[in-house]
Amino acid sequence: MVAACQPAPGETADPGGDAADLIVTNGRVFVGDEQGTTAQAVAIKGHLITRVGTEADIAALRGPGTRVIDAHGGTVAPGFNDAHVHFLSGGQSLGDVDLAGLTTLREVQAAISAFASSKPADDWVKGRGWLYSPFPGGSPTRAQLDEIVPDRPAVMTCYDGHSVWVNSRVLALAGITRDTPNPPNGVIVKDPKTGEPTGHLKEAAMDLIDPVLPKVTDDDRRGALRAAVAHALKYGITSIQNAGGSLEDIHLFDQARRAGELRVRSYLATAATSATTEADVDRMDALWKQLGDDPTVRTGIVKMFADGVIESRTAAMLAPYSNSASAGEPNLSAEELTRIVTMFDKRGWQVQIHAIGDRAIRMALDAFEHAAKVNPAPARGRRHRLEHIETIDAADIPRFAALGVIASQQPMHVALGDMNTAKPSGPWPDNIGPARASRAWAWPQIRAAGGRIAFGSDWPVAPLEVGQGLWLAINRVSQAGGQAQSMSVADALRGYTSWPAYASFDELRKGTIAAGMLADLVVLTSDITAKPPTRPDDVVVSATIFDGQVAYERPPGR
Ligand SMILES: [Zn+2]
Repeated sequence: MVAACQPAPGETADPGGDAADLIVTNGRVFVGDEQGTTAQAVAIKGHLITRVGTEADIAALRGPGTRVIDAHGGTVAPGFNDAHVHFLSGGQSLGDVDLAGLTTLREVQAAISAFASSKPADDWVKGRGWLYSPFPGGSPTRAQLDEIVPDRPAVMTCYDGHSVWVNSRVLALAGITRDTPNPPNGVIVKDPKTGEPTGHLKEAAMDLIDPVLPKVTDDDRRGALRAAVAHALKYGITSIQNAGGSLEDIHLFDQARRAGELRVRSYLATAATSATTEADVDRMDALWKQLGDDPTVRTGIVKMFADGVIESRTAAMLAPYSNSASAGEPNLSAEELTRIVTMFDKRGWQVQIHAIGDRAIRMALDAFEHAAKVNPAPARGRRHRLEHIETIDAADIPRFAALGVIASQQPMHVALGDMNTAKPSGPWPDNIGPARASRAWAWPQIRAAGGRIAFGSDWPVAPLEVGQGLWLAINRVSQAGGQAQSMSVADALRGYTSWPAYASFDELRKGTIAAGMLADLVVLTSDITAKPPTRPDDVVVSATIFDGQVAYERPPGR
């Protein structure tokens, strides 16, 4: 052991000398910088990385109390950072039946039926993740659900979160009949012959069942957060960026942090609408100040919705949908969006806008451009972001670089779009047609034009598993237009590490592996930089290190 030396200003006293608390050895260390530096081993002391280098460099820091993790030649990367999740609803969904990726009605029904019989004591049968493609016309019916769950209320949320599918018990409990009118911004799908509700409730019509759903208690919410943290660590995720929520949600995360349970660094947005006032922003400011610059729970970001989704033709397009006279309507006018964005920008907030259709994307970029023109630059600079960006007009691609706007995209949404292409019809490609589909999820083009990218999952819309997103980003096949769509393994890894760290103003403390950075790492079972994944489940996490502690280890024998 090396003799203790005087701590430098800002360092803590160090009775153990230079010896590391934890060493990761025998790895292919992907440092994550833009130069593509690699190394073999990493040393950690307390909650910081102290050195990255060769085996010999790091062996010198090994003391009697040092724990050693052998990476067995696997990739060692900065802990993954999911730039777009809905962490609490994701955690809640872990207790429900998962219908993600099931492409036939038979599979969907079998999954629900098995789940319902495994939980005989529960009154409700809940699930999420259904695709449109298993259902004729893309619309599920209560009869299909009654067949397998006749006697208990059953509700299944669509993967996109914009529809629910319920059985007859739920319609009866909620009092939804042929005489119930559509609520504003919602549709109760009704049988054209009988006028009876079919069991498919879209957009705001989903709220009609809220009064009869089982109440979610604070204990449920705490449990959901705990479950979400454990789920994230399993996939090597040590940072998340929560795309919306309430101030109460942020308090819940902060309570978990104080209790030592929040082993995922959380950058938390609050939802805003055109009704948000300066007084609301005062309250948001107060919470931001109170949390300060804590690396584990922080805010300073606000989430808005410019439009809906392509599947239900609620995304705002510049030209009508291919199979409809409508082009979709934005959620708010360009003037309102610009006003709200400018208000937040002036007060130093980062604004993230859900913008899926090419018209919504243009409106949001216009709003950012206006804010930058009329407001002085905030102290930390401007890093506004667009979320999703599913179809874009070619003229708007270079504007990301020009305005410094980050493209926050979710690679697995491409796969969901593809799954929704299954016969008899796929709403995603059918609704927009081939020309616009060729400009779908244009992160390669935005990046080629100098724009910044951050990748995420949108969990529970898509699975939280980062490996699936890496696989998709690396293997994405060329689409019409001849543009290369795939990206290098190094860039795909950056999309889940250093780039999202920039997107949350955190690049000086995480997202790369270097001395002085927070000790958040993921160790994979193989070296994906040498042998890129060819299947969605090829990327396997063997250990996750959060804040200098081993927070997840793959159970032996798996
Ligand atoms: Zn989302």
